[in-house]
Amino acid sequence: QAEVVPKAPEDPLFGLMAAYRKDTFERKVDLGIGAYRDDNAKPWVLPVVKKADDVIRSDPDLNHEYLPIAGLQQFTSASQRLILGTDSSAIKENRITSLQTISGTGAVHLGALFLRKFYKGNSDPNVYFSNPTWANHNQIFTNVHLPIKTYPYFSAETKGLDFEGMISSLESAPEGSIILLHACAHNPTGVDPTQEQWKKIAEVLKARQHFPFFDCAYQGFASGSLNQDAWAVRYFVEQGFELLIAQSYAKNFGLYGERAGCFHFVTSPGSDATDTVTRVASQLAILQRSEISNPPIYGAKIASTVLNDDALFAEWEDNLRTMSGRIIDMRKSLRTKLEELGTPGTWNHITDQIGMFSFTGLTEKQVLKIREDAHVYMTKNGRISMAGINTKNVDYVANAIDKVVRE
Ligand code: PMP
Repeated sequence: QAEVVPKAPEDPLFGLMAAYRKDTFERKVDLGIGAYRDDNAKPWVLPVVKKADDVIRSDPDLNHEYLPIAGLQQFTSASQRLILGTDSSAIKENRITSLQTISGTGAVHLGALFLRKFYKGNSDPNVYFSNPTWANHNQIFTNVHLPIKTYPYFSAETKGLDFEGMISSLESAPEGSIILLHACAHNPTGVDPTQEQWKKIAEVLKARQHFPFFDCAYQGFASGSLNQDAWAVRYFVEQGFELLIAQSYAKNFGLYGERAGCFHFVTSPGSDATDTVTRVASQLAILQRSEISNPPIYGAKIASTVLNDDALFAEWEDNLRTMSGRIIDMRKSLRTKLEELGTPGTWNHITDQIGMFSFTGLTEKQVLKIREDAHVYMTKNGRISMAGINTKNVDYVANAIDKVVRE
């Protein structure tokens, strides 16, 4: 029977990583995967994570028992406070149910599965993604058979937000569509709506009775402020939306491989809110049980130890500022170097865009050329991970970009 299984293409991002690893060129540069690197291009274990690890390991009662189906309770409730704010009315009114998931991917998947099974916003619901979006959104929603559409997002001309295009597409989408939104630090473009634009987006979603699903993979990583990066999600909750949130701790805690994440269902204010949450929680528990039984314990313990301790939390914020600050510095350096070189085109978008990534505007042809000639690795759409740039390679990268743009 196995002969009927066609060969699938390799995952482009993980394929790129493998090609980089194989490359023996000394000055090679990895601008592919979205993982933080320090100024020596090395992974960075956050000092606060090391401390939390010590706390966990010194517990004489440490064991490796199963977590409950919904995960570690101290972790999921701290996650609610982190994304919604400690004074959130949704928390006070018990309008949320949360499950620990296999990082952000697992949270998006659980949400997709839940929507596929229960969403009845219209007779034939579609999920709308920004064009472009994180490539895995497509696969995750396709796997659960939810039909996909896109709304315009990135303007190739300004290398900023195509706000008009986005709004008119959301206005003309069938009433009750599912709209996937990046909470902050949009991947892959690094372009976020302003607060005024978010307000308009909320207005349109409300008028069209669309259903928001926030994917939040970079809280604290974009601006360096956890509260600022959660602004859009909190605004939508304040507006009384019923919505979903997928939350990842991969980037902001550097817990990539530990797979710590959380999924939240928030319902609207009303007398039946508690009943809604109870029913939804019972169904989510069944989905979770059949998919993963119960989530992994270590990453959640690390995050929970930090999130529930004031001193460690403050230290974490400091660590976050170290990461976001270095990235912002590298944006400035790269832009300055390109402008000094007089590289054709405008480069203000490098500093205008935020978060882990920059959408350079390099074409696929240029991306392949720069990989071949200079051993600088980036995804085919011209996205670079800013974390791959450091004080030692920024000149090299700028010169390589300059050369390929002029060819
Ligand atoms: N959503 C977006 C937009 C992302 O960029 C990422 C990380 N690349 C994720 C979700 C989830 O990543 P993880 O599963 O590693 O938390």
